Amino acid sequence: MVGFYRDTWVEVNLDHIAANVRSMKAWLRDDVEIMAVVKANAYGHGDYHVAETALQAGATQLATAFFDEALSLRQRGINAPILVLGVIRPEEAKLASLYNITVTVADHEWLSKATEYLDGNSLSIHLKLDTGMGRLGLRSREEVIKVLESLTVHTNIKLEGAFTHYATADEPNNKYFHEQSARFTEMLAWLPTRPAVIHCANSATALRDDGGLYNMIRLGIVMYGLSPSEEMKGLLPFKLQTAFSLYSKLVHVKKVKAGDKISYGATYTANEDEWIGTVPIGYADGWLRKMQGFSVVVADRPAPIVGRVCMDQCMIKLPQNLPIGTKVTLISNDEKSPSYVDEVAKHLDTINYEIPCSISFRVPRMFFRNMSIMDVSNPILEKNNDF
Ligand SMILES: *Cc1c(COP(=O)(O)O)cnc(C)c1O
Repeated sequence: MVGFYRDTWVEVNLDHIAANVRSMKAWLRDDVEIMAVVKANAYGHGDYHVAETALQAGATQLATAFFDEALSLRQRGINAPILVLGVIRPEEAKLASLYNITVTVADHEWLSKATEYLDGNSLSIHLKLDTGMGRLGLRSREEVIKVLESLTVHTNIKLEGAFTHYATADEPNNKYFHEQSARFTEMLAWLPTRPAVIHCANSATALRDDGGLYNMIRLGIVMYGLSPSEEMKGLLPFKLQTAFSLYSKLVHVKKVKAGDKISYGATYTANEDEWIGTVPIGYADGWLRKMQGFSVVVADRPAPIVGRVCMDQCMIKLPQNLPIGTKVTLISNDEKSPSYVDEVAKHLDTINYEIPCSISFRVPRMFFRNMSIMDVSNPILEKNNDF
């Protein structure tokens, strides 16, 4: 286990991740499998431990966005099926085959190039069908037929799955969602035989319970214990347990006088004699300059960020004189806290997905299982295990 020496850290509660996977599993029909989406370092949580936890809790497959992410999981010894949701280079088809990584086929040209690089090795693929997201996938019957013809020639390529992605699943009662769903049914009928796995559902779709889940879902945001949207919060069929929280400690505390200025641009002026604390986190950690004005929690009280957020530090107005080393909760996993993930997202005028993803690699992750620390990841020190 590597250490860290700067008092700013993320806590990832793996028990909560496991509980969310189990709740989803209990909610789904028995024949629907869970593919745990661990792209982007598991939404900033740490892909290896999240993947292991999800698999132990009942997920049977994993998904990443990029090939490198899938390879990294293989390098760390994860053997479960992994689907790369994005497009890999056709040149890497052989490497994908070697590491038993399933790839997405979103157009015919990709497939014909990939067959050249495969040297006859076998490759598992899922066909991506674009039903209205407009991002990736085959759109017309002609394109699908071309791909199918290619597959009859290249028998080393195994069509294991077909999938689509919805653009508006997190907006309840959305007409566009039903149009996409109908289009998916229509497109699937173009395939002469059904691949083993068919999937269309992200977290929001999986929670809708309208029978259209086929036999696998792609579980992302709900696994991390966050709601897919504000509108869905009242409709959740089970309680979510948020896994991500971010903490720091006061490294400097001082009393300033009325009229004193704080930080770059001298944009903050103390109204009265105030206690100001310095916290060692800044925009290089993903704690963006726009966080100015947001209240973090210190000694159970809200403390507003005053003055501009710097690259590595920011200042907060303390409710009273507090000792150096006092814990500061920057992002809470408790939905009642003023610094809950969703409140941070609201302050930044964005969605909760963006918050854990944005906290950079410079902030170490502490992993908790069975209520105790089981590992720490700190990419800055990982190459020097002797510290
Ligand atoms: C990221 C992603 C998901 C997971 O979505 P959530 O809303 O986080 O559950 C599912 N499918 C695809 C194609 C994705 O890119």
